[in-house]
Amino acid sequence: MSRKLIVAIDGYSSCGKSTVARELARRLGIRYIDSGAMYRAVTLYFLRNALPIPGPVELLSDKTDYAPILDKILITFRVNPNSGRSEILLNGEPVEDEIRTMDVSNQVSHVSAIPQVRHRMVDLQRESGEDGSLVMDGRDIGTTVFPHAHLKVFMTADPKIRAQRRHEELMAKGQNTEFDSVLRNVVERDHEDSHRQESPLRKASDAIVLDNSHMDREEQIAFVLERIKPLLEVGANV
Ligand code: C5P
Repeated sequence: MSRKLIVAIDGYSSCGKSTVARELARRLGIRYIDSGAMYRAVTLYFLRNALPIPGPVELLSDKTDYAPILDKILITFRVNPNSGRSEILLNGEPVEDEIRTMDVSNQVSHVSAIPQVRHRMVDLQRESGEDGSLVMDGRDIGTTVFPHAHLKVFMTADPKIRAQRRHEELMAKGQNTEFDSVLRNVVERDHEDSHRQESPLRKASDAIVLDNSHMDREEQIAFVLERIKPLLEVGANV
């Protein structure tokens, strides 16, 4: 592909955004960036260092300067030499598994609501868009990070189906969790992500909705590829 293509995939928690985004990037031969992993890695840093995390109410009157903390956090991605998959590094350490625990999931929406955290991450995400084509998934990619993305997809699915998928994923990884606590986390994160002040989760007006409640992975990929095809024929340019 000679011209740059930016695909933004946003949506609710545990919709399978990363599965679709990763596979799409693989088939198109372009980079995949998981913006949620970046907020999760920042959250892991807060938890490891026992840093106070303001809840939605405390955040309203929070005067903390988070810059010195953020200056100590270096987030990078690399392609894992064994799996060939893109994975996140926190200060040089691979943390793909640690950022997916329930401890991180329970705090990530609080950390990601902190304006200074958002500004840093959005800057980093935009910088990665300068290096060429990519697929990025998250909550505000089509609305804030890349408002001029060539294709915007907004993914959603029934919350119970989403929680079921996430629960199965955690159990398969040996993380013994109750279905109800996964469901609660999914619903609470959606609520917090949609109601925060800074770049809340919402569908961009020009995004295509993909409700995958009753679709398998192949059907979802086909749905998105079908919409990308005309862009490739025209020659996407930003
Ligand atoms: O995508 P994932 O579920 O891993 O994202 C974890 C959390 O990171 C979300 O619940 C949300 O609070 C935050 N996030 C965000 N903006 C993004 C991506 C993720 O606020 N672009």
